[in-house]
Amino acid sequence: MEKYDLLPDLLEGNHNHVEGLPQGYFDDVQEDQHPNLVSVCCSDSRIPQVEMWDIDEPGRVFTPSNIGNLVWEVDEKDRVVDSGILYPIHHTGTSAVAVVGHTGCGAVTAAYRVATGGERPSPRGVRNHVEMLVPMIEEALESEEVDADADEATVINQLVEYNVDYQAQFLHESDDIPEDVTVYGFVYDFQGVYGEENGRVYLVNLDGETDPEKIAEEVPEEFEVAVSSLLY
Ligand SMILES: [Zn+2]
Repeated sequence: MEKYDLLPDLLEGNHNHVEGLPQGYFDDVQEDQHPNLVSVCCSDSRIPQVEMWDIDEPGRVFTPSNIGNLVWEVDEKDRVVDSGILYPIHHTGTSAVAVVGHTGCGAVTAAYRVATGGERPSPRGVRNHVEMLVPMIEEALESEEVDADADEATVINQLVEYNVDYQAQFLHESDDIPEDVTVYGFVYDFQGVYGEENGRVYLVNLDGETDPEKIAEEVPEEFEVAVSSLLY
């Protein structure tokens, strides 16, 4: 493959994007933005982080994604809420956060392998990021919720949900996230792990609540299929 082989595809794709935009597509967001959701989704290329909500207009979702959908960054050894989450909450009036993990997550897999004595990933930036997940994974493997003796794919998917809960809980408890901000924890399933339908999100955490029966009380009846848990 030549070095710039991709470039014509990119430019043609963008050309088609420009041609295909409806009239006035950006009219309401020329001066500012008021996204109603900040979605901390894993960066995995298989996860359509805006399209999963059937949203195709600009200015609706703020998307600070990263590998493994972590919600914090480290500031002088302290965990502080990631800037990409704080910005919309404190500066654009956003009052809902979704932490979105996904089945078969590579970052969770890498952290699981480190936690169970496997090799630390490289290069250093990846290693540092994955290692932020490792203590949580170790805690999960010791917990009652995760069946650490199950086959690897099963354990990974349990850990994915555990990670979503953990990240959502961190936000829920953070002094930097105002009380009136709603924190959702979702797992995006594109592999038929939770149910038959690929592409469905499962609400596994609602403002710190992880009990599916209690979460279901807040969910419209026709969408109760979207409440499920591998842990509880
Ligand atoms: Zn992932």
